[in-house]
Amino acid sequence: MTPNVSKSPSQKGYYGSFGGAYIPEMLFPNVEELENSYLQIINSEEFQKEYWQLLRDYVGRPSPLYFAKRLSEKYNTNIYLKREDLNHTGSHKINNTIGQILLAKHLGKKRIIAETGAGQHGVATATVCALMGLECIVYMGEVDIERQRPNVERMKLLGATVRPATSGSKTLKDATNEAIRDWINNPIDTHYIIGSVVGPHPYPDMVARFQSVISEEIKKQLQEKTGRDYPDYVLACVGGGSNAAGTFYHFIENPKVRLIALEAGGQGVNTGKSAATTALGKMGIIHGSKTLLMQTKDGQIIEPYSISAGLDYPGVGPIHAYLFDSRRGEYYAVTDEEAMEAGFMVSKIEGIIPAIETAHAFAYLEKLNAKPDEVVVVCLSGRGDKDLATYIKWQEGTYKGHE
Ligand SMILES: *Cc1c(COP(=O)(O)O)cnc(C)c1O
Repeated sequence: MTPNVSKSPSQKGYYGSFGGAYIPEMLFPNVEELENSYLQIINSEEFQKEYWQLLRDYVGRPSPLYFAKRLSEKYNTNIYLKREDLNHTGSHKINNTIGQILLAKHLGKKRIIAETGAGQHGVATATVCALMGLECIVYMGEVDIERQRPNVERMKLLGATVRPATSGSKTLKDATNEAIRDWINNPIDTHYIIGSVVGPHPYPDMVARFQSVISEEIKKQLQEKTGRDYPDYVLACVGGGSNAAGTFYHFIENPKVRLIALEAGGQGVNTGKSAATTALGKMGIIHGSKTLLMQTKDGQIIEPYSISAGLDYPGVGPIHAYLFDSRRGEYYAVTDEEAMEAGFMVSKIEGIIPAIETAHAFAYLEKLNAKPDEVVVVCLSGRGDKDLATYIKWQEGTYKGHE
């Protein structure tokens, strides 16, 4: 069986040989403050009370675990969907931003910064800033601002300032650089809300803990529905890896559960147009963390590509590099085409239009071959309303790269 694999990093933030905090010296005070206080704050009674109350009354948790009858018949097994798409703002991302905004409040921060690519994390951050009355600045690449207009408008409506990143390729990694620069210049009053299980320690562990509510609920809900508190398989898509980390979290140390992660294979793993990090990546450093990273021979980051903006990231969080490397987790690439077909299929047979990110997880049901008495849980990470234009263009045959 697999070696002893832990869901928590070492004290220095290492998952095996991945993780850590590789940051410029000027960020040491900010990151150290977080590192020294995050566990104490998160575990305090006051924090826990507020966190759970907001998850219940504001986010709408627990999210249902839905037995997908027609999907189960199609694949001749038992498929349950964890409905993160029903959360306020339409995905799992709010679980993390609620946790981090409370942490920021406990640290006495007055100003919040975030980076965003597709705009989903920016919207989730702007939402909790409005909720708490904190100033919100979201960095976003100029190119992304153009192609993600509706999310930019949402953020503005929620009271956030969207600042364009104008350097480099004018996309997510440039927005991240701008956010880090801002944090260096504003170390006292500002908290940086990172949107996935990436970044320097303690972010990957912190975000995984906030998302672990997903598997905590799955355990309880499966116990009620099946009389057993674990499934045979959990499936989730991976961009940076936060919905997958949350879905896997309480099952990582149970070797009876197969952890299956689906990455964006784009136009094909070997076409130069994908975001299949575990298939193509080598050890490197991105956003302050040592992890698997798509890079050239001389260490330049390769621009990732996926039809789904949320999976379009050249790395994975260190917990995934570790689960992949230790073989505890199984990582497969799903192409744009396979994902889109699965998105249309789930819409028609379950009446649920999934986010295109999530559709990658559904696509793998074609290959899973689960037995009739086995139990499969798929994390339905988000709803597909935001992707309507892409679905329509794909169907018309007029889709030409992201917009
Ligand atoms: C952002 C996003 C993802 C990818 O992010 P992870 O950190 O890998 O979870 C997946 N699904 C949806 C719906 C998203 O919005």
